[in-house]
Amino acid sequence: MQFLQNVSLKSKTTLQMRSNAAWYGEARSAEDVLEAVMFARERQLPILVLGGGSNLVLSSDIDGLVLANRISGCELTNEKVRLGAGENWHEFVSQATRQGIGGFENLALIPGNVGAAPMQNIGAYGLELADRFISLNAINLDSGESVTFDRSDCRFGYRESLFKQERLWCIISMELEPSDELRASYPGVHSWLQDHELEATHESIYKAVCEIRTSKLPDVLSHPNAGSFFKNPVVAVSVSEALQQSYPSLPSFPDSTGVKLSAAWLIEQAGLKGTAEGGFLVSEQHALVITHDGTSHFAELHRLIDRIRSRVLERFGVELEVEPTIYPG
Ligand code: FAD
Ligand code: NAP
Repeated sequence: MQFLQNVSLKSKTTLQMRSNAAWYGEARSAEDVLEAVMFARERQLPILVLGGGSNLVLSSDIDGLVLANRISGCELTNEKVRLGAGENWHEFVSQATRQGIGGFENLALIPGNVGAAPMQNIGAYGLELADRFISLNAINLDSGESVTFDRSDCRFGYRESLFKQERLWCIISMELEPSDELRASYPGVHSWLQDHELEATHESIYKAVCEIRTSKLPDVLSHPNAGSFFKNPVVAVSVSEALQQSYPSLPSFPDSTGVKLSAAWLIEQAGLKGTAEGGFLVSEQHALVITHDGTSHFAELHRLIDRIRSRVLERFGVELEVEPTIYPG
């Protein structure tokens, strides 16, 4: 495995932050990951694992080793799916749907790689990774130990997992369980199917999700971004009820730990759509997305984040939490 010095990461994340890695390497196997762990240990370097860079905000140059996970592997059957962490997530969903292997179609067009999917338990249109998860294999970045995690080990939550909390693991591979279940009740999907006079099938849901996403979200190539910049806040039932009294149109959804509110609605109603700091802009197309023109620094993004969080807190009394990983944090 090759370790390169002083490598530009600008084109390696979808937000296109300017950042150089002191060291950079690409792992194509578990053995490469072990070699990288040894390399970093000898030089006392922290390791940042990189997938497709679609949920990562680089806040400065990186003193350590950036380890891009490029481990391939894609075995699909109707009973089980086995994937290497470096496979592209959407290509897998697309191939599975084409082959009649269902249960993943709601998660179509989520950018990034398989290995990052468990990090924040990716979810969209009424389905999350945990619903189809069997197990994963990961290497401990301190000890080099290889460990298999089943679902109960992973502490999956709403855009959360053990791996996001600990940042100690390089995910190598994952097993998922296909399903015949059709999840077509999410309002956007349901109405798309009705408008197109289509029955719910794995293929039609896949098509609905792809079309809705393409029409609603800014394209990362022309408008670099990191997807939803804030998580939807989950508040106590009493807080949600009080807010509903003042703002009856506030979208809210019961959640296992309280009531989930729409962060996009809060940001839009706080008058923040179109707000800019340097080259960072709260997208006019989608209030949860911050776009970047590729020229600005983290200090400006930080000011924009602070402005959004404090305006929403002032106006609604609700704290917003940033969704992507900020590194160094
Ligand atoms: P990266 O950005 O490379 O990494 C993200 C984090 O995971 C980092 O902390 C990184 O260190 C870690 N990581 C990456 N690979 C590994 C690995 N193999 N082992 C250990 N740690 C690893 N997310 C959703 O949940 N639902 C959506 O609908 C959704 N839509 C999006 C739409 C757009 C336009 C964009 C830009 C993003 C969207 N996201 C969404 C966020 C993002 O696509 C997902 O979080 C995705 O899983 C990130 O994958 P990645 O490979 O790009 O991860
Ligand atoms: P939307 O359909 O306009 O809905 C707004 C928000 O309301 C969503 O965030 C969603 O929460 C929630 N919601 C809507 N109907 C719901 C229901 N029946 N039950 C529970 N929650 C419901 O959202 P959107 O912004 O266009 O995004 C569509 C989907 O893609 C969402 O699932 C969203 O999470 C996902 N997405 C995620 C990212 C990311 O970077 N994380 C980026 C783009 C899109 P949930 O977010 O919990 O689903």
